[in-house]
Order: sequence, then C-alpha cells, then structure tokens
Amino acid sequence: MKKNYDVIIAGGGLAGLTAAIHLSQHFKVLVIDPDTYPRHKMCGEYLSMEVDSYLKSLGIHIKDLSQVTINNFRFTRGSQSIKTATLPLGGIGVSRYSLDLELYNKAKEKTDFLLDRVSDITLNHNHYEVITTDQKLTARQVIIATGKRSLLDKKLARPFIQKKSPWLAVKMHYKFKMSNDIVELHAFKGGYAGLSKIENGNVNLCYLVNYESFKEYKDINAFNKEVLTQNKALKEFFKVAVPIWEKPITISQISFEQKQPVEGKLLMIGDTAGLIHPLCGNGMAMAIHSAQIASKYVTQYLQDEITRDQMLIKYSKSWRKTFSSRLLYGRWLQKVLLHKKLTTLSYWFLERLPFLLPIIIKKTHGKEIQP
Ligand SMILES: Cc1cc2nc3c(=O)[nH]c(=O)nc-3n(C[C@H](O)[C@H](O)[C@H](O)COP(=O)(O)OP(=O)(O)OC[C@H]3O[C@@H](n4cnc5c(N)ncnc54)[C@H](O)[C@@H]3O)c2cc1C
Repeated sequence: MKKNYDVIIAGGGLAGLTAAIHLSQHFKVLVIDPDTYPRHKMCGEYLSMEVDSYLKSLGIHIKDLSQVTINNFRFTRGSQSIKTATLPLGGIGVSRYSLDLELYNKAKEKTDFLLDRVSDITLNHNHYEVITTDQKLTARQVIIATGKRSLLDKKLARPFIQKKSPWLAVKMHYKFKMSNDIVELHAFKGGYAGLSKIENGNVNLCYLVNYESFKEYKDINAFNKEVLTQNKALKEFFKVAVPIWEKPITISQISFEQKQPVEGKLLMIGDTAGLIHPLCGNGMAMAIHSAQIASKYVTQYLQDEITRDQMLIKYSKSWRKTFSSRLLYGRWLQKVLLHKKLTTLSYWFLERLPFLLPIIIKKTHGKEIQP
C-alpha cells in the first residue's frame, strides 16, 4: 500500500464515498474506514431527489437502486390529526445497505481503501499526517467525513463533543403493507418515528427519542409497547408488522449542537460538519452535497489555482450559504414538534392554512444539485 496520497478521506459513509468518487477522477485518493461493506446504518432511508443529477454525473443511478418513488408526506400525532402534503422534489426509499454499497463499488474502481480507524491528523507545513491504529500516512489534503460522532472528534477536542447529548435512535426493518409513495412521520412523547418503504418492499421504522422519555422503560420492546403505541398509526403498525432482524440497530449520544465545516485547518463534510434534525429527511442529501462543494475547492487547490487558506475559506463560506438556513429551520421544527403546546398551536394553523406545510418542508430541503 502507498503511504502518500493527494487526498486522504477519513470515513467512508455517504459523504466520504461521494468525495472519493468525485476526487479520484483526477487525484490519488485513499478512504479509511473501520467497517466493511455492505452494512446497515442508522437512517430513515428517505433520500431526497435533489441529489439525482449530481450522482448520475458520478455514474450512480439511484432510480436503478429502488423503484420506491416517494412524493407524499403524512404526519400524525396521538389519536387524531393527520396532515398530508406533496413533497416539492420528492425522494426515493432506499436502504443504506444498498446505497452505500453502490457508492463503495463505484469508488473502489479508482480509490484505495484501508480498513482502519483514523486516530489523529496534523498539518506539517505542506502535508497532513494521518495516524491510524496501524499506519502513518501523508496527504496533500485531508477530508474528515467520520459522521455524527467519532473518537477523532475527541482527539481534535471539538467543542460539540464536550457536551452530553440526550438523543438516541432506533431502527428496524419490517414486513408491513404500506403504500410505496409516502413517507410518514409519527410523533409520540419525547420523539418521533419515520416510516417508509425501501427497495425490497420492506418497511423501515426509524425513530429518535429523548433519553429522558426512554429511561423509565426497561428496553426497546417495552418502550415501543408503552409509548410508541400511544400514537394511533404506530399502534396499527405494531399490530401487524413483522420484524426482519433479531434486534434493532441503536445509537445514542446523537448531537445536534452547532459544528463548523472547517476547524483549525481541517475540512469536514457530511454530519461531521453539521447534522440536520432527522425529521427533515435531508441529511443524506446534505452529506452528498457537502462532498460536492468540498471536492470542487479541493480540486482548485490541488491544481494550484488557489492556496490552501483560500480553499478553506471558500468551502466554509459556500457550506454556510448552502446549509445554514436549512439547519436553522430543522432546529426550529424539532422544537415545535416536541413541545406539546406549540404542536397543538401549529396544528391549529395548519388546519386553517394547509398550504403552509409544503412551504415549511421546502425550507428544510435544497434545490436540485447541479453537477
Ligand atoms: C435517526 C436518524 C434518521 C435519519 N433519517 C434520514 C432520512 O430519512 N433521510 C436523510 O436524508 N437523512 C437521514 N438521516 C441523516 C443521515 O443518516 C446522515 O446525515 C448521513 O448518514 C450522513 O452521512 P455521513 O457520510 O456524514 O456519515 P456516515 O454515513 O455516518 O459515515 C461516517 C463514516 O465514518 C466512519 N468513521 C467513524 N469514525 C471514524 C474514524 N475515526 N476513522 C475512520 N472512519 C471513521 C464510520 O464507520 C462511517 O462509515 C437520519 C439520521 C438519524 C440519526
């Protein structure tokens, strides 16, 4: 294995793999990730169509991966109130198992992969030194794409990692009959659950919950039975849905604290730069889009058109311009959804002004990404 690369990418999730496919068209790229492919990942698995053209330009045809085309949104809480809306751009239902594998297969045509974990990164004059569990490597540019939370964040002493986060998430695939063309969001005490179909006809249930709501119950089954079923739609779901796996995937300590796309001289993409609240269903598109923005400026830097400092400033500015307002709306929406009085009030408004719902959804999504 080479020890010296143009670009080393820490993390081979959606953001890291997209940047690898983009940059390996011109440069020698290495992706470092401790996991093998394919793998299931925490995610609602609703992918906004805003990424379609850009991914096509990289040789990834998402419509070939899944026929589940989603154009409608349904929101429920408690036993009554149901709101539906048409999604402005729509999306597809595709498992991370299939999507990440497709990107990995494309990336590995031109990119090297190392099954390892990045433990430290330092900048020494003109190159970065990347330390993994077993190796010491160098690169002209490093991109950090290690996702929501990583030991690397601790090593780099990033401010968000110092604060405890109360959020945990649960995901499970089920056999359940539901319409192809809808993504559903069901609110319950302390959290909300997304339901939508994936490419093989199974249904993904993925929920986010505050630890305070969860901790009085012994386990996930008890929590599902006691709390999720207080939502009528989820009660109907659990009556007939058949779980596919023996146990669900869970993660804790999900942080929605503000992060920075550039810290020190380190460039971050995907969830490493900022995580939008999952109810917006836009995190995957943002991860892919941030990889495109970073790849554009890293290319200019590696081709000596701009300096490293200029590249970092341009990326940071462009990232903020593209994502800041989406993140803000996401934060605001999550607050409303989890606040009983505010949810009741917003329902009252939406009942009378239903055209507002698609407008709110639009605020948390972007336009189609141009290749
Ligand atoms: C509950 C929940 C539901 C969601 N639902 C949706 C949805 O329906 N639609 C949507 O668009 N988005 C959704 N999202 C958001 C979406 O899942 C993320 O935004 C997306 O996965 C971000 O991709 P990423 O590449 O940044 O991170 P990831 O896909 O998490 O990849 C990070 C990679 O880094 C690797 N890594 C970690 N540490 C290291 C290290 N030290 N060295 C090397 N590699 C490392 C990991 O192994 C991993 O492969 C949801 C999120 C949550 C929490």
